[in-house]
Amino acid sequence: MKIAVVGAGLAGLSVAHILEQKGCTVTIFEAKDRIGGRILSVPTDDGGTREEGGAYVRPFHRRACSLIEHLGLTLVEKSFPKRDPNDDVIKDQSRIRSEAKQLMEDLPPKPWTSPELVELDQTTVASFFEFCCRSEAGLESAMKGFTAGSGQDPTEVSLLGWIDSEKKMAGQSKSLLGVEGGMEGVIKGIAADLHTEPVLNRPMKSIQQSEDHVEIWMEGEMAMADRAVITLPPKVLLDVDFGDSLSMEQELAWQVLGAAGLMRGEIDWRDDQYAKASGPTFPPGAVLAAGDHIGEQAGRIHFAGDAASNWPGLLEGALESAERAAEEVMNADKK
Ligand SMILES: Cc1cc2nc3c(=O)[nH]c(=O)nc-3n(C[C@H](O)[C@H](O)[C@H](O)COP(=O)(O)OP(=O)(O)OC[C@H]3O[C@@H](n4cnc5c(N)ncnc54)[C@H](O)[C@@H]3O)c2cc1C
Repeated sequence: MKIAVVGAGLAGLSVAHILEQKGCTVTIFEAKDRIGGRILSVPTDDGGTREEGGAYVRPFHRRACSLIEHLGLTLVEKSFPKRDPNDDVIKDQSRIRSEAKQLMEDLPPKPWTSPELVELDQTTVASFFEFCCRSEAGLESAMKGFTAGSGQDPTEVSLLGWIDSEKKMAGQSKSLLGVEGGMEGVIKGIAADLHTEPVLNRPMKSIQQSEDHVEIWMEGEMAMADRAVITLPPKVLLDVDFGDSLSMEQELAWQVLGAAGLMRGEIDWRDDQYAKASGPTFPPGAVLAAGDHIGEQAGRIHFAGDAASNWPGLLEGALESAERAAEEVMNADKK
């Protein structure tokens, strides 16, 4: 089977690798002049590396950790300077934790399928913090901590989305693990094991499909394949012409997502036309509106990328989505 993969970030390279292992002939088209997408490790003057993008995994991100180990790279625990919060802040943190725990306990496994959660989805994380905190210092610390960790403004994030993501991490080790020499080592490692070399400087403008093939249109150039896996972030997908391939629900899902602005070094990824965000956010109402349409298969067009996963905005999500999309492709013609 001939597969076109669009985007050479972690999801694109991973899905290409899985499909090659299963015997497909894969071509990867990348808009930029480099691979890696939102993973970018920049050498520093002192011989070290500065991560501009995805930098850390957690021990329970099993796909990411085992890939890193499989590639022979070394995980290094990141330590942060300890803060010494005052008593008011500690009490407020504890109230936030206990209220959030209660909400997690009541949450069904796929909350976006439960319309009765609309109120929780319409509530913002900021108003939840306001409800829990009794001191100004506690509230300020909660708001700032949230933005620092996620690049998201708590006044613009759905409480339901946040509680759902916190639930996945409940009871797990919170350690952050980086990669010695930089996360880009993962990108280089996967690329080195591919039969195909990604074709750079090829921004996809539109994609069309017929009964037996897909056509990917780039500037003045067209590529044909049996199926395509598109790995672009949602806000970037909105710039691509999909003809009549998409359902209204899927387009709406991409539209309702917001753009996180996490910055590690000098790059604001919201200004990058091929990223438009450090990761997706779920504004109030977006969890139920997006449902599970973000990465929905559209005929011969499949979707991967961190947003189309259970771990949006994370490397683990990019890998999970690649596995899911590869499985979809391999099973598609069996139906
Ligand atoms: C500042 C920052 C910090 C982060 N920190 C962490 C962290 O600590 N831990 C963590 O797990 N995650 C983190 N992330 C998120 C993580 O980097 C992403 O989840 C992951 O890299 C996404 O991979 P992807 O392949 O889904 O998307 P991308 O890496 O965005 O790949 C998409 C690719 O498609 C290309 N493309 C776009 N448009 C087109 C087009 N029209 N035609 C062809 N190609 C196109 C892009 O150039 C890109 O190469 C961070 C991200 C940022 C930006």
